[in-house]
Amino acid sequence: MTDTGFDTGLTDEERQFRDSVRAFAERRIVPNATRWDMEERYPRELFTEVGALGWLGAGFPEEVGGSGGGAVIGAILNAELTRGSAAIALGLYVHSMLACAAIHHLGNPAQRARLLPEALAGRRIGCWGYAEAGAGADISRVATRARREGSRYVLNGAKLYITNSTFADFMIIVTCTDPARGLKGMSLFIVERDMPGVGVGAPFAKLGMGASEMTEITLSDVRLPAENLLGPEHIGFIAALKVLSLGRIASAATAVGLGRAALEEALRYATNRMQGEKPITGHQFVRFTLANMATRLEAAWRMTLHAARLADAGGDYDCAAAMAKLFATETCTRVCERALHLCGAQGYMRESAAQRFYRDCKVLEIGEGTSEIQRETIFRHLGQ
Ligand SMILES: Cc1cc2nc3c(=O)[nH]c(=O)nc-3n(C[C@H](O)[C@H](O)[C@H](O)COP(=O)(O)OP(=O)(O)OC[C@H]3O[C@@H](n4cnc5c(N)ncnc54)[C@H](O)[C@@H]3O)c2cc1C
Repeated sequence: MTDTGFDTGLTDEERQFRDSVRAFAERRIVPNATRWDMEERYPRELFTEVGALGWLGAGFPEEVGGSGGGAVIGAILNAELTRGSAAIALGLYVHSMLACAAIHHLGNPAQRARLLPEALAGRRIGCWGYAEAGAGADISRVATRARREGSRYVLNGAKLYITNSTFADFMIIVTCTDPARGLKGMSLFIVERDMPGVGVGAPFAKLGMGASEMTEITLSDVRLPAENLLGPEHIGFIAALKVLSLGRIASAATAVGLGRAALEEALRYATNRMQGEKPITGHQFVRFTLANMATRLEAAWRMTLHAARLADAGGDYDCAAAMAKLFATETCTRVCERALHLCGAQGYMRESAAQRFYRDCKVLEIGEGTSEIQRETIFRHLGQ
């Protein structure tokens, strides 16, 4: 297939990077993706494998074990890994682009030096905990409390739906340190898994993203030294939003990668599937459906790259990231639904990739801020 979309606007260096990640995904992830999905277990060894290739460190400086690059490289990485398996990409992305990114953007030099080299090599895994029973789409509802006691903080609360939590060594926990201050009374902490009072529940059964693992995390009188506070006290909400804005670009790229995989699957089926004397691409409906899928994915990729280039240039990318995330994830859902439709009954079978893409896509509209939250962000930028 002509490689529309993923070639758009890439430099030679970025294209080479894309080709390397694509080759890895096709060799290491694609052949195992269906099995991992059915086993509902994350292949932990991928963290060290991807870490050894330097890709967990994409977007991080060399002095903390990173391999440089920025949001564009991160977007390419996510899109290509997701073409192999969205669940695998999700686990890697939560670790590096949320947990490690929070330490990188908000942490002090000692915290970065202590955690990032091991984490970016894939030897220590992180998770990102902000969602709670009462705080989902609206991050300002976080109720997990962190109370200062002398030189320590004491954490109490519970985090829900936390990806990688079954095996994470450290957790970035969003808390409320001063309810009277509202949004400004929130703070982030680094919590080590083996600290007394940290509880990890049983893995949840999910519709999609089968290979990724998530649980509830409970925090009962978890006593943290003050050096585990990430960034200044009481700037949590703004800080968390900054990390999430970068996550939105990665999430948009994930959606493009998943949509791309679904398009390729549908195209493969439609060109090979004979009905009577001709393949089903002989029908205009089928050709037009595939053309629409490719066109929307192209637009989604351009929006994603635009947001990523703005972020890399140090510009204000908040609105562009929200637009890219909104458009790419809704496009992905539509594309995966059409792909399953075009693949017919064969696509509906449990071992087919088309049904996996269809189950995996929906969460991209929910995580990293639902579509409604993206629309609220975009509206705020309209300047009315
Ligand atoms: C596979 C998966 C992995 C996840 N991984 C993580 C993770 O690693 N870390 C983590 O912290 N969380 C994680 N989550 C949780 C995720 O962050 C939340 O699902 C997300 O924030 C949405 O919250 P909610 O599910 O409680 O939806 P709700 O807040 O209950 O929202 C339900 C619906 O109401 C709408 N809605 C709610 N509030 C508003 C509003 N103010 N305006 C307009 N519409 C609104 C929403 O858009 C949505 O459509 C994960 C979830 C899933 C499914």
